[in-house]
Amino acid sequence: MTAAADLIITNAEVHTLTDSDTVHEAVAVRDGEIVRLGDADELAFLEGVETDVLDCEGRVVLPGFIDAHTHMEQLGQHLVHADLSSADSAESCVDLLSQQAEADPDREHVLGFGYDESSWDGSRTQPLTREELDRVSEERPVVALRVDLHTVSLNTAALEAFADDLPDDDLRYADGEPTGVAVEDAAEAVRSQLTAGREEMREVLAAAMARAVELGVTGVHDKVRGSRAPQIYRELAADDDLPIRVRIDYWSDHLESLVDVGLATNAGGDRVRTGAIKSFSDGSFGSRTARLREPYADAETDGNGDDARGQWVVDPDELASVTDRASNEGFQICVHAIGDEAIEETLSLLEETPNAATARHRIEHAELVTDDHLERIAEAGIVASMQPNFHRWADEGGLYDQRLGRERRNRTNRLRRVLEADVPLAFGSDCMPLDPLLGVQYAVNAGTEAQRLSVTEALRAYTRGAAYAGFDEDRLGTLEVGKRADLVVLEASPWDRSERIDEIDVAKTVVDGETVFDGGE
Ligand SMILES: [Zn+2]
Repeated sequence: MTAAADLIITNAEVHTLTDSDTVHEAVAVRDGEIVRLGDADELAFLEGVETDVLDCEGRVVLPGFIDAHTHMEQLGQHLVHADLSSADSAESCVDLLSQQAEADPDREHVLGFGYDESSWDGSRTQPLTREELDRVSEERPVVALRVDLHTVSLNTAALEAFADDLPDDDLRYADGEPTGVAVEDAAEAVRSQLTAGREEMREVLAAAMARAVELGVTGVHDKVRGSRAPQIYRELAADDDLPIRVRIDYWSDHLESLVDVGLATNAGGDRVRTGAIKSFSDGSFGSRTARLREPYADAETDGNGDDARGQWVVDPDELASVTDRASNEGFQICVHAIGDEAIEETLSLLEETPNAATARHRIEHAELVTDDHLERIAEAGIVASMQPNFHRWADEGGLYDQRLGRERRNRTNRLRRVLEADVPLAFGSDCMPLDPLLGVQYAVNAGTEAQRLSVTEALRAYTRGAAYAGFDEDRLGTLEVGKRADLVVLEASPWDRSERIDEIDVAKTVVDGETVFDGGE
């Protein structure tokens, strides 16, 4: 006598996304685990009086998406507060902040995130000012954070409220008066105050995770620095209130604390685990700070000089001491490296780590990876953690064309080459924006053959590939008997709609056999 299933998902096109991508009609779940896949009538014997039966009416079912590179705190802040990322002027920032102030009158601060004056109409180079923000409110503190988080703008009330925390060196003045612009340490001081509260952090993470499940995400590898987020994730998991799985990749300044409390890579429970130690080598193409072998096509300085080839965000010597220390403690390491020279530097360090053979170190972004690098990356067992949505900037005339020129632009994010080199490929979004199907859309429709993947390959990188990067391939990433029942039901088939995969809606998201999002509700 076989125990009945808790859930049978039937009349579906269930893609296992295993090597052969077998398609089944139905899947049965018990205690959050997949117990059987097959035809509907083959699974009928598992249906008991208590079994929930979900008739998918022919819809596609996939393993749940795992986003291998997220910033959930920032995503949540954009959702809870004013989102200034699409504002095209100071005026529209003031309008959005005023609307926010009115909609949320009881909150102490009025906050806006993600403004970028360089993208506004006209050619403004100055961040938002105190005077502009005073138009939102003269009583309540108003804070607007620039997209890169290195600059924060404050109104008069906010300057007063944060006065004790702001190092004067990092405040800007004009004619002896503060302009309201705070940079670097002052910006960081403001930022850390905003989510210092437990309730505030709970609220922003809940908002971010609610968005994630709407988009079919069942797990994230969240990059965390200096915040309460890990504590809140663990509290929510203990309360059975965490809708998705979270693997926490910690910024390297947390390393000693992790060692002290005995949290190693993969420590944790079903829902929350410790991931890698994260560091940086370079910056980004957009700000000309990714470190290149050859100068930027639109370098702001002449010649072949160092500053024309980008910069180090973390100095190579310092990065070496981080990788040294973290690998000696047995940690997985992930390093942000975008330009070809930064990838070279990072790869050389990771190859030398004593735990390289088993640690699954990761290069985050790896945008301008060369064929020679790929061979070495495969050899060293390193994971390429890439963002297919970054192809949005690789169009003719687009940002990468301007910064890198045509030849190098066509060598960015060569996803097919990565697979051909047998490098494990994990997809993530970097929350730009968080949306796996949008990423799959870019991967499938990228500009050159070396950059393009098939629908199946792209979906695998967002499921099995990301699971592998998180040491989760035995329990997640494919739909097989014995694995956790983390899955997503789509309204349309990505194989049938490969031109517009980004327009496909998620019908349902399931984690451990429990529905965490229902689009029909
Ligand atoms: Zn990131």
